[in-house]
Parts: sequence; structure tokens; C-alpha cells
Amino acid sequence: MKPLVIHGGHVIDPTQGIDETGDIIISEGKISPRDRESDLSPTNYRVINAAGLIVCPGFIDLHCHLRQPGDEDKETIATGSQSAAKGGYTTICCMPNTTPPLDNPDTIDYVKSIAAREAVIRVLPIGCISKGRQGKELVDMDKLAQSGVIGYSDDGSPVLNSRLMRQALDYSRRQGLPIIDHAEDITLTGDGVMNEGDLSARLGLPGIPTASEEVMIYRDLALAELTGGWLHIAHVATRGGVELIRQAKANGIRVTAEVTPHHLTLTEVRVTLSNPNAKVKPPLRTQRDIQALISGLKQGVIDIIATDHAPHSKADKKVDFAQAPFGISGFETALGSLMSLVHRGELPLTTLISKLTSEPSKIIGTRYGKLGSLNVGEPADITIFDPDMEWVVDASKFVSKGKNTPLDGDRLKGKVMVTISQGKIVYQDDSIKVKGI
Ligand SMILES: [Zn+2]
Repeated sequence: MKPLVIHGGHVIDPTQGIDETGDIIISEGKISPRDRESDLSPTNYRVINAAGLIVCPGFIDLHCHLRQPGDEDKETIATGSQSAAKGGYTTICCMPNTTPPLDNPDTIDYVKSIAAREAVIRVLPIGCISKGRQGKELVDMDKLAQSGVIGYSDDGSPVLNSRLMRQALDYSRRQGLPIIDHAEDITLTGDGVMNEGDLSARLGLPGIPTASEEVMIYRDLALAELTGGWLHIAHVATRGGVELIRQAKANGIRVTAEVTPHHLTLTEVRVTLSNPNAKVKPPLRTQRDIQALISGLKQGVIDIIATDHAPHSKADKKVDFAQAPFGISGFETALGSLMSLVHRGELPLTTLISKLTSEPSKIIGTRYGKLGSLNVGEPADITIFDPDMEWVVDASKFVSKGKNTPLDGDRLKGKVMVTISQGKIVYQDDSIKVKGI
């Protein structure tokens, strides 16, 4: 096959400090050097005209739920990977709260083999912290590390037993892999379904106090300090959480953190009794929390943006707000949502791209090659997007099996046009034509 040229796009690569118009050449799955003399015509190359578009490293998602094995009616590794590709992602890390959970090398191997056969992008598994996600006994972390997990998490549930968390962080220090913390004190959450405050009182829905998150972040930062282990806080959603992480980093504690697109852009006012698609954990909070999350992201207190893509079937969400499961199907609206921050001048475009590419790559490390860079010789994982294209979210057209989004019918500005995974075009908007085929 002829090499591929992405011609005349606005290339942004935070790892090389590139932020200028240029061409990217892809040959045999890798980023290829530009031969100054060569004629980049459709006779010799396949050509994508990227004028007016942003060309950047493929997005990397450290936190998603692919539901396989066990809940293939909600999502599969195949459909989840296609949905991610449509959202501009070329590497996704899947959480282990499947049925059965990914708590031993056999289940990790199962996910890896399905991914190798059926996924259109790179899928990297996360292993459980505790056997069966029961919070009682540590998994065999040495065996899971050998089987290739990029970190450990009982996500969906916190690790309530502090001693077990200490043990996990001890291993983390020795292995250099992160413990990914679903920071929630479920005794404080109780039967809460949304942010605790005036609105929850008005709606008559039980609330979740911000302390539910803050208490657990505080405990786990103390344990990270005690052990020297690497704590990664998942889906930070509160102002108090951001401040705790800020102090911990200043004190030299090894902690990284992520925030989701929905927690950066939506508040509790999206919650209505008739729309369980705004029901998510942690819950959508307030404008004050959003401002703290954006500041934290800009200042490096929060390292990355991760989707927490959590697909559910229609039937699951077609119940009373109180009964509906928590979760938002997030891959396909992530960029459009996040670009609203750029368009409003709240987040520089280059910062946004680094939080989706080079920063998550640092957390994954180099065991799977150097990800998140357009350096010559690296795997050609590339996202091309139109920063200004407006479109209306139509959940029924999601590639994901999960149509559960509070954004259905919303107008977003910013759309993925082409996703290239290891040199292969895995998603292409209808309006994009590749010349020279
Ligand atoms: Zn979680």
C-alpha cells in the first residue's frame, strides 16, 4: 500500500513542542521522515487534505468500561473500540469490573486475545486490586504485572479496607505501576444518587456529599505517603479533592489524577427526575467545582482527562432515577464537550491536547512502545479533528451500544474527522476523502 500523507494540517505535538502547519507522512504503520525532495502527490501517496484541521497524536484514555466479559449487551471490546476510534482515541485502558472481574492472568489474557482479534485500536487492561473485587484479599500483583496490566483498580467500588490499600500501594512502589483509586466513602454516599445540596432537596433525591470523595482521597494520600506507592485518583469531581491533591503534590507524595469531560463541563442542573442519563458516579457537582477542576488541570494538579466511558443498555436506564445505574457513554462526545472549554478561552488547545495524549502516555509508560507522540519512528497513532465544526449529538447514532448520554440533542463545536491507529485509518468522517487510493 502507498504511504499516507496528512497534508497541510495544523500539527500539534506537545512532546516535541510542535504547533504549526505541516505534513505528516505514514509508512508501514509508523511516522516517517519527510524527504524534502519528494513530490507528495496522489501518484506516489495516499493524501488526506487536512487544511483547517488539527493533526495531533491519537488520544489515550486511561479509564473506560468495555463490559466484556459478562455484559456484552451493554458493550463489547469490539464496539467499545469502534466507539473510541470515532471519538479520536487510539489507545484505551479498560477497567476490570467485568463478570468475571479481571483479577487473574487468565481473564487478562482473555481480554488481550479478544482485543487482538476484534478491537480496531490498542486496548490495554487494568487489573483488580482485590480478588473478586471483594476488598478482602489482594490479587497476585506480580502475576498480573507479568500479564501486562498497566495498573490496578477496584473501580466501581472503593477499597474500604485501609490495610489492603496499604499493601497494594506497597506493591505499587516496587512495581512502578499505579493504584487507580475510585475515591468514595460508600458509607457517606449511602443511597445517594446526585450532588447533595439545595437541588437534591428540591427534587427529593438523596444526595452524595462532596466529603464522600474528599475523605477517601485524604486517606489514600496518607497511605501513599506512608508507603511511597503511586496513587492515581480516578475521576476527581470536587474542589476539595483538587485542593488535597495540590497539597500532596507540593509535599512530594507520588500522586497523579484524572478528570472526566462531563465533570469539566456539566453541573448538577443536568439532573432531572425524567433523565437518568445525567446520573453518574461521582455525581455532577457545581460550577464552583468545575472552576476548581479547570484550574487544577491547567496548573498540573490534575494530570490527565479520562472519559470513564460507562455504557448501559436502554433497558437499564429506562427506570426511575433512583433505580437507574450510574454512568455516561462518553467516547463519542468527549472532544466536542472539551472543545467548549477551548472556545470559551478557559483552556488552551495545546493544554487540552497534552491532557489527552502526552500526559496519559507518561502514566502508561513505555512497555507498549512510546505512545502519544508524532516523533519519527513511533507508531502512527493520529487524530485529525475540526475544531470549529458544529454538530448535534444524536445518541441513537452512537457506535457504542451505550446510548446513555445527557448530551443527546446538544449542539457541540469540534468533531473528530479521521482516526489512524498504527498507520491504519480506523475512523473517517463522511466528508473526508482520501486521494490516491
Ligand atoms: Zn470509578
